[in-house]
Amino acid sequence: MSSPLNQLRSAVQMLALGASGSVRRRSEPGYDAWLCRARWNERDVDRRPDYIVRPRSVDDMIAVIRTCREHGLAVALRSGGHSFANAFIRRNGVLLDLSALRALTIDSQRKRAIVGPGVTSRDLSRALAPYGLGFATGHSGTVGLGGFLLGGGLGINFGQWGPMSAFHIKALDVVTADGVLRRASAEENSDLFWAARGGGPMVFFAAVSFELECHAAPAAITARSLRLPLTRLADTLRSVERTEPDPRLQVMLAVIASDESVAQQAPPREVALTTLAFAESITTASDLHASIIDRLLPWALAPASEEHATGFTALHDHGDATFGAGRYLADNILTDHAERAAEILIAHLPSLPSLATLPIFIWRGSPSLPDGAFSARGRWYFSTYARWSDANEDEVNQKWLRSLYDDLQPIASHCYINEFDLEYRSREVARCFSEAAWQRLRELKQRHDPAGVFHDLAF
Ligand SMILES: Cc1cc2nc3c(=O)[nH]c(=O)nc-3n(C[C@H](O)[C@H](O)[C@H](O)COP(=O)(O)OP(=O)(O)OC[C@H]3O[C@@H](n4cnc5c(N)ncnc54)[C@H](O)[C@@H]3O)c2cc1C
Repeated sequence: MSSPLNQLRSAVQMLALGASGSVRRRSEPGYDAWLCRARWNERDVDRRPDYIVRPRSVDDMIAVIRTCREHGLAVALRSGGHSFANAFIRRNGVLLDLSALRALTIDSQRKRAIVGPGVTSRDLSRALAPYGLGFATGHSGTVGLGGFLLGGGLGINFGQWGPMSAFHIKALDVVTADGVLRRASAEENSDLFWAARGGGPMVFFAAVSFELECHAAPAAITARSLRLPLTRLADTLRSVERTEPDPRLQVMLAVIASDESVAQQAPPREVALTTLAFAESITTASDLHASIIDRLLPWALAPASEEHATGFTALHDHGDATFGAGRYLADNILTDHAERAAEILIAHLPSLPSLATLPIFIWRGSPSLPDGAFSARGRWYFSTYARWSDANEDEVNQKWLRSLYDDLQPIASHCYINEFDLEYRSREVARCFSEAAWQRLRELKQRHDPAGVFHDLAF
């Protein structure tokens, strides 16, 4: 009798998932190339699924899930492959790659978009633009909507449209652990709907389509920036906090290595503050920028940039350029203690191994959160994207980031699951949720997937 794995292979081949090319077994030629292409992150991991399967239709996908269930093979899901932790790459079992599910329909009358999990942020913004509509997609254009939405999604213009993109899922279609396609919304299968709004890698189903509520695009989207010395980071954070930015203004502070630092191979000494206004008019946008920037001018290293018009395409281009190819590890906290976070960061900068690493503070404020698994609070989002290029430097960079975020834990209110260091902190995932939401997620996982058809979070 053939082994369970061979049976799986025969089953999915019989489904004609694409005669050559939609299934790869670990021992087959081409497997490594497939796994490598599945990762946006150049950093490899030592985990290897037994199979990589790329269904082209929901029916094929259901057949794969049923086969996996029958043979006790755990399923891991991938949409856009942008997880910094490579969370979709698990040991053994099946990697079910849904990137080919890229259907995209706009219902402009109802301001709705129906998107498959493989649709990217840029795809959606581009499809909505002709109708004068927008959605809080990921900042980089390549970010997959599947994982982005399920984990919460801190998207473009989150202050005005937010607080998190997942709260704009009006309904979704999922395949549950019993291999059945189900609709989930506030009225139907409401537990699944609740989990989809922020459960991230904790969800216990495969999402195959999302119905999203979109918004009228702002008439004026403009940007400004200001360079400040690192010694003023804490003062700047305090000033922004006291101003309580208008929700139409996105305020971000990145700690960067200037050309001079790079030339000297010295730690970063500058802060780049960026303000993005999403307003009804240019006049309002200008006022919004001024509300933050004017107060900071006395500390600036140079005059503020002129206000310039931008938009979703330019923002996606900028995001894609900022997060270029490289080996990455990310971690984050949500905190009400940004000044202390700045002090802790500054103490770690002298030992920073790579000047390509990017620490970013983003103002979130205290928005009220609708009901959903996303329940993380904290007025500031402080994330750091460790980035390097040489595999020999994996260890030193990982150690640096993990030591920084170990020191930050005491001041964290919560963490954001989509950029959480799931590999190192897989036992700490509860930090990403309120206690009640975490308990409910665990109970729902137990109820809807008792046999563990979908991988749990043990890496
Ligand atoms: C360059 C870059 C820019 C980013 N910008 C932003 C940003 O602006 N805002 C923000 O909030 N985040 C951002 N992120 C983080 C991003 O939200 C996560 O990486 C997210 O997981 C990306 O979605 P994905 O579809 O590519 O996920 P994948 O890497 O494909 O999957 C990640 C995990 O999500 C789950 N999952 C994925 N698809 C499904 C599915 N169909 N059904 C069930 N579970 C599924 C699985 O558990 C999987 O392990 C960025 C990441 C990168 C690399």
